[in-house]
Amino acid sequence: MFIIPGPHGNICTDCVEVCRQIVDGARDASASAERMAAPLKVPSPKAIKAFLDQYVIGHAAIKKQLAVAVHNHYQRLTQTERGDDAFADVEIEKSNILLIGPTGCGKTLFAQTLARMLDVPFAIADATTLTEAGYVGEDVENILLYLLQAADMNVAAAERGIIYIDEIDKIARKTENVSITRDVSGEGVQQALLKILEGTVAHVPPQGGRKHPQQEYIAMNTRNILFICGGAFVGLDALVKQRQGKQLIGYTDTHAVPSGKGEAATLQAQVQPEDLVKFGLIPEFVGRLPVITAMSEMTEDDLVRILTEPKNCLVRQYQKLLAMEKVKLSFEPDALREIARQAMARKTGARGLRAAMEAFMTDIMYDLSDTGKKAEVVITADLVKRYSDEIVSSRG
Ligand code: ADP
Repeated sequence: MFIIPGPHGNICTDCVEVCRQIVDGARDASASAERMAAPLKVPSPKAIKAFLDQYVIGHAAIKKQLAVAVHNHYQRLTQTERGDDAFADVEIEKSNILLIGPTGCGKTLFAQTLARMLDVPFAIADATTLTEAGYVGEDVENILLYLLQAADMNVAAAERGIIYIDEIDKIARKTENVSITRDVSGEGVQQALLKILEGTVAHVPPQGGRKHPQQEYIAMNTRNILFICGGAFVGLDALVKQRQGKQLIGYTDTHAVPSGKGEAATLQAQVQPEDLVKFGLIPEFVGRLPVITAMSEMTEDDLVRILTEPKNCLVRQYQKLLAMEKVKLSFEPDALREIARQAMARKTGARGLRAAMEAFMTDIMYDLSDTGKKAEVVITADLVKRYSDEIVSSRG
């Protein structure tokens, strides 16, 4: 470090560097906000699906459904911008999306990948942290604040972003009967979400937290924000079956009620809005989510593909990390299968893959980093098994 003298004072080189970083940061932020507020180029459904294919394994039918829904959503948005005349009085309704699927099957990944493809701001919120305004917990407007923050506080960019609301099934009404006590974290939240899901000018507290009267709010129009809601909806399959069973009375065709393996997935794929109402979502809320998709559990084969095929799959991530230490990492096919098998046993979908890999990769990375020598590591099924046995015995 040295001091640079000036006419009215001196500055050290460290402070110059700090100032440079501040200026660069501000430039980057305004460039990315400008980019996100620029006119949208709406990709075709086929282009959206091809992009999803690079990151998400399986779920072919859902990809198609989502690609069309998202394409239409952004078409609708540019139509408002262009003010097309022939259909000027036709209002295309918003197509918010409901993703039903077990944990770790890629619901968040879908939402994230769509936002990445469209290059629009994206935020994730957890429905379980929300409560009806005035009660302990978060106001629903806070989820808009997350989006605004993702857009570097650029309101125009945030107003056409994507919000993923996770655990939406956890805000279901507890019983079908109207309760005499207030249901502030279930039905109350659904009521509060209705307006922003449909489109309203919401008042977002810039500091987050509870709203209070003296605070200045940022006005944000949610009309063009795409909401994707996700949840596991455990038990929904039974409600579908019940409905189908009722409809079958007096008929002889028993094939309409699936039974046996994969039954839950098949049933969930036949979800109708009324099943969601039975589950505990209020009809108005279901009405704001016109695109309903049901994803099935991951199979072992899917998990093997997830390990190796997506652009930023786990195998490549570890290979990159070790390449930085001059270590070449490879996996025998049986080893990948064993990792997938262990992940299946954890019952957390693709989420279990990371935990299964960390079990042995931690030791390898610990031992090999810093040596500075070139090395090659081949992961075998035996090694993967040995580590999982060790974990089981140390737990037991
Ligand atoms: P959830 O359905 O619970 O929202 P996530 O989308 O968060 O699951 O997935 C958890 C992890 O598993 C992520 O790291 C994601 O990359 C990976 N994953 C899950 N499903 C898939 C899939 N179909 N293709 C590729 N990766 C996946």
